[in-house]
Amino acid sequence: MKGLYSIAIDGPAGAGKSTIAKAVAERLSYVYVDTGAMYRALAVYFLEKGLAPEDEKGIAEAVGQAEVKLAYQDGLQHVFVNGRDVTGEIRTEAVSAMASASSRYAAVRAHLLELQRELARHQNVIMDGRDIGTVVLPEATLKVFLTASPRIRAERRYVQLQEQGKLGEATLPEILQDIEARDYQDSHRANAPLKAAEDAVLLDSSGLSEAEVTEQILKALSEKQKEQGMVKEQA
Ligand code: C5P
Repeated sequence: MKGLYSIAIDGPAGAGKSTIAKAVAERLSYVYVDTGAMYRALAVYFLEKGLAPEDEKGIAEAVGQAEVKLAYQDGLQHVFVNGRDVTGEIRTEAVSAMASASSRYAAVRAHLLELQRELARHQNVIMDGRDIGTVVLPEATLKVFLTASPRIRAERRYVQLQEQGKLGEATLPEILQDIEARDYQDSHRANAPLKAAEDAVLLDSSGLSEAEVTEQILKALSEKQKEQGMVKEQA
């Protein structure tokens, strides 16, 4: 990884990881890698196969046949499964639920791990997910654990769904319940649970604007780069 930098952003659903990661990527000309989209793409595949979220054996068998790839079009990440662009299908509640359930399984995580690491081997990346600082990129230049209160995250999700015309019958309490269920599932699983890396910078975005969080990350990165530069000089 000589000469390359990587930023790991982990945190619960709705903390603002993707918005912030995109903003930082733009400022630094890094490649933004949304690992949640990879789990979601696999979820689309499992749902199409008619697999149930509890069917670990079936999912573990099916994942071997699902080749996930990322490509960038006009700076936006597109995700493919077996050559089919599923980007437009991954943001439904059904896919969210299947992604959260199937990402518990070791076979599913192992399937994506090498692809995620490979992406950071050749370019500067900012990667967001749940286990980037702890498992995928333990040597990342900067690790950030981004949180916000469940209430704030539910409100953001509510507004986002409303703006996209996808709110349907969903109410704020339901969205909050869904967020809390996903938090629980993501942080209590045995394989790569959601948790902050020991050396992560903890950031609570509840009372901060997107610009403020972005600035804090840029500042933390430049401090880490200086520290690393000093370590290299001393070596
Ligand atoms: O981040 P996003 O909500 O798109 O992720 C969808 C699901 O994929 C999460 O609920 C989580 O269970 C899983 N995931 C994961 N590890 C990652 C990224 C996402 O387990 N690095």
